Amino acid sequence: MERKTTNLIQIGDVQIGAGSPIAVQSMNNTDTRDAVSTIRQIKLLHEAGCDITRVAIPDREAALALAKIVKESPIPVVADIHFDYRLALLAIENGAAKIRMNPGNIGDESRVREIALAAKERGIPIRVGVNSGSISPDVIRTFGGINRESMAHSAMEAIRQLEKVGFYDIVVSIKSSDPLLTIESYRLLSDQTPYPLHLGVTEAGTLHEGVIRSAVGIGTLLAEGIGDTIRVSLTGDPVDEVRAAYSILKSLSLRKRGITMISCPTCGRTSVPLVEIAEKLEKMTMDLPYDLKIAVMGCAVNGPGEAKDADLGIAGGQGEFLLFEKGVAVRKISQESVLEELMIEIHKLGKQKS
Ligand code: SF4
Repeated sequence: MERKTTNLIQIGDVQIGAGSPIAVQSMNNTDTRDAVSTIRQIKLLHEAGCDITRVAIPDREAALALAKIVKESPIPVVADIHFDYRLALLAIENGAAKIRMNPGNIGDESRVREIALAAKERGIPIRVGVNSGSISPDVIRTFGGINRESMAHSAMEAIRQLEKVGFYDIVVSIKSSDPLLTIESYRLLSDQTPYPLHLGVTEAGTLHEGVIRSAVGIGTLLAEGIGDTIRVSLTGDPVDEVRAAYSILKSLSLRKRGITMISCPTCGRTSVPLVEIAEKLEKMTMDLPYDLKIAVMGCAVNGPGEAKDADLGIAGGQGEFLLFEKGVAVRKISQESVLEELMIEIHKLGKQKS
């Protein structure tokens, strides 16, 4: 897939745009004023593979806590600002690696200019974050509603506000909770601007629904070569956002990380508790660093053949499993010890390959 060429932007030590790997982002759901909890969560996000995180800056205390958070964070920390431009200035002073704001809710242009000048002085980018819920009534009227045209227009208006003061270190997002509107809006915007695009479906929902909506919205755009960094928004643990982001990226061969597990849907040929075994294995391998494909198949008749691209796999028999490597049978394992023995094989092969 050919990726759209965009400008290169530096966020701390992470580059986005211009063909850089698609960066995975998340957002802390801790109270930013509680620096200790926030740092703890950032470390978990980092371990899960998160490249950049964002924290809410609702008040002065949160902006001041940034100094400690940034100092101890292993990844760049973005400050999320709404309405109060003074909080953006304070967050910049306290080491934010990027500012996320919606110029539309910052107020008059002189305030946006002040933020842009402070960001420029520190060499940090600004993400213009337009949401379908924050489009001005005037723009909605002009374009006949909340649609791709009004979304793209709002983003371009915000970009021009920053460009007017000589600020070009820009990333743009244009999110909606409707995956289809998100897709159409990003497509339109991508034709209008060379700035890197931060993809996401906003207020996507809980783990199950949210992952599906995000996979459809983000995945469709990525498959068209659009997008430079992604965030999967979920109502839940942000670590799950990072895991979901990698599942999307791995499905499109855009990033590699950890185990890819495939498993069959089971059928009348299955005589082992495959669902339970697959679920347990998924949890056990979730955070392993090896770049391996593991197959969990219900029967030895079709399993090894259907999953011959997997590095390792198990296929169910009568109270036992067949262990196979690249579709070739290795040995039989009893049902009782299948997870334990498979984990030993995964570690062995993973270490060999890395
Ligand atoms: Fe059925 Fe075997 Fe295919 Fe699984 S691998 S769906 S058990 S035929």
